[in-house]
Amino acid sequence: MAEVSLRNVSKVYKGGIKAVSKVNLGVESKEFVVLVGPSGCGKSTILRIIAGLEEASEGDVYIAGQRVNDVPAKDRNVAMVFQSYALYPHMTVFENMSFGLRLRRYPKSEIVRRVNEAAEILGIKHLLGRRPLELSGGERQRVAVGRTIVRKPLVFLFDEPLSNLDAKMRVQMRTEIHKLHIRLQTTMVYVTHDQVEAMTMGDRIAVMKDGIIHQIDEPMNIYDRPKNKFVAGFIGSPPMNFIDGRIIKKDTKLYFDDGARIKVKIVEDMYPKLLPYLNKEITLGIRAEDIYDRLFVSVAPPENIVRAHCDVYEPMGSEVHLFLSSGKHTFIARVGAYDRPQINQDMDLVFDMSKVHFFDKDTEETLI
Ligand code: ADP
Repeated sequence: MAEVSLRNVSKVYKGGIKAVSKVNLGVESKEFVVLVGPSGCGKSTILRIIAGLEEASEGDVYIAGQRVNDVPAKDRNVAMVFQSYALYPHMTVFENMSFGLRLRRYPKSEIVRRVNEAAEILGIKHLLGRRPLELSGGERQRVAVGRTIVRKPLVFLFDEPLSNLDAKMRVQMRTEIHKLHIRLQTTMVYVTHDQVEAMTMGDRIAVMKDGIIHQIDEPMNIYDRPKNKFVAGFIGSPPMNFIDGRIIKKDTKLYFDDGARIKVKIVEDMYPKLLPYLNKEITLGIRAEDIYDRLFVSVAPPENIVRAHCDVYEPMGSEVHLFLSSGKHTFIARVGAYDRPQINQDMDLVFDMSKVHFFDKDTEETLI
């Protein structure tokens, strides 16, 4: 069993830079957890603290139930894959992959067996005699992963391993690492700034900003129930649309009104949570797929219609993204592949009000 646990871990670098603040993170044995967040939010620092490459300024780190704060990196039995691959250029793939085992004086036959086994898993057996310069980016990344597999570590740590690959190779390697996890059944912690990688690979995702984990949960729970506006905006592509306005009451009904052209009726289930915000400023969040072109909706409640200007649209192949403006707000709608509205003309959109989120304007915490 190789669970990883961080308790109240903080890191202050020389010069007073606070990279990580009181992080609590529990990764279960065999789990794949992704740390995701914008550049500089402290993801790599956490990974390096787990690896033992960086010391925590405060808090405790446990691997497989053992407190490892004072255990040197080489004795932690964790393996890290870096963005830069960090391969030795003068060594062949075989020599690169076997380097760690040779240092640890494993018997030759065991080294050959392990390298062959890892090369087989990664489909790089035919490359064992080549040097890194004779490999493509994707192949180098496989060698870097292979070098860690041969050590049979308790925990794999990945630090943005796909950032240097082109878009197509990134998608392919993403699936391969995912499959590798299923095959090896080893605990993995994976760092990325790419929310698509996080959504597609993680058993759970920890969303970070400014050295703090804002939410940790299964990908779809984070997508459907983000804890605050930051998480809501960071996870999902295109990002969630945010529209500032007020909750107003007309007759007995509640509406969201941006004070310009967007006025939509709120579904009654949401009344209890929104009544305290009556006449106060609030932020409405709506995902692009929850906004429809009126022309393609058979029954559209008139109170859910928003008139907007279609500034431009982008055909994505399987869908079309409409870039719209309405009064003081702009937003994006994701519509069917064959929807071709008139550019530079007004059109009617329908907001699916059962799907909207609301955020406190000041704290940015999710209300609904
Ligand atoms: P991320 O991996 O999310 O991009 P990092 O963990 O690398 O973020 O960095 C978090 C913060 O700590 C950043 O502000 C970064 O500039 C700072 N930082 C990282 N490494 C060092 C270091 N060795 N010395 C000083 N500051 C550092």
